Amino acid sequence: MIHFNEPTLSGKELEYIKDAVTVEHKLCGDGKYTHKCNKWIEENTGVAKAMLTTSCSHALEIAAILCDIKDGDEVIMPSFTFCSTANAFVLRGAKIVFVDIRPDTMNIDEKIIEDAITDKTKVIVPVHYAGVPCDMDKIMDIAARHNLKVVEDAAQGVKASYKGKALGSIGHYGCFSFHETKNYCMGEGGAILLRDHDDVEHAEIIREKGTNRSKFFRGEIDKYTWVDMGSSYLPSELNAAYLWAQLEVADEIFEDRMKKWKLYYEILSNTDILKDRIELPYIPKECVHNAHMFFIKLKDLDERTRLNKYLRSKDIGAVFHYVPLHSAEAGLKFGRFHGEDKYTTKESERLLRLPLHYNLSMEEINYICDSIKEFFTGA
Ligand SMILES: *Cc1c(COP(=O)(O)O)cnc(C)c1O
Repeated sequence: MIHFNEPTLSGKELEYIKDAVTVEHKLCGDGKYTHKCNKWIEENTGVAKAMLTTSCSHALEIAAILCDIKDGDEVIMPSFTFCSTANAFVLRGAKIVFVDIRPDTMNIDEKIIEDAITDKTKVIVPVHYAGVPCDMDKIMDIAARHNLKVVEDAAQGVKASYKGKALGSIGHYGCFSFHETKNYCMGEGGAILLRDHDDVEHAEIIREKGTNRSKFFRGEIDKYTWVDMGSSYLPSELNAAYLWAQLEVADEIFEDRMKKWKLYYEILSNTDILKDRIELPYIPKECVHNAHMFFIKLKDLDERTRLNKYLRSKDIGAVFHYVPLHSAEAGLKFGRFHGEDKYTTKESERLLRLPLHYNLSMEEINYICDSIKEFFTGA
């Protein structure tokens, strides 16, 4: 079976975990490996502060607290995203206002955001689908004119950039995922990125159970205590050690994914029989993506279902997502769709994600592309 995903194991993960256990004698959070990872993110994105978290879902929750979301506030986001994007704000009492996506990138349509703003709107959440950047200049401009915060869901966007700026560093807050399905992983995990120094102290408190423990460890105060609302959002050193082994060779992992992404693109775009039958990903020219995902779009839901089944019969694990949030049970309860659903439902039903991971071979990509060809030619 060619799996859709396998977690990356680049080489030194187990060595670093062993070091954390037997040499460092530190398993809880914020030890040597967490600090190395934080520093790597800061150096590679230019943010004032980055902190590992237990997941991207939790990073989004920290961001929602930093945005001071209260009952009845409204948060604008695409409906085509993972439920964590919405949950973080729903947990704070917000109403989610879903807007349509652009069919080319599958990202939020920046042109309709402004129309969805009311006097209750507090935050805009762009989601960089497949590590392909949203139009951040437009989004930041709208936010500035309406005095809104921007939280980037850059779960899929590590090492991708928009006009030379790293994803996750453009909005007020950025959220990364290091879940095993993402480009760099630690099992479960993520990071919160803070663009501005002013937010650092508050974010540290939220992440450390509402205490000022971080300040205490730096020797800035002589005892630590409960000072605000918070939770336990810091991951164990075991997970951070695993991640550090990958961030250390991040360029290598990036190149490996990019090589595979490009092979898919090259074969599928140069196959005449597929020309009018499938649609390939589009990367705006001011953007550098990170080869997080390779997807194709079929004619409709029926064709996608049939191709997916065919690929299964050839031992290929292709998958689809997302069920648009506005049509999900919780989406109906916690949100509303603003404007017309021109593309969200239609485009999501056509999309199929192909296997892409560190262990995938070039031969397997050739086999997958051949199988897609066979599906259409009946060969
Ligand atoms: C993976 C993902 C998340 C959640 O990440 P976790 O680290 O699993 O919490 C959130 N948003 C998007 C767009 C994702 O792809």
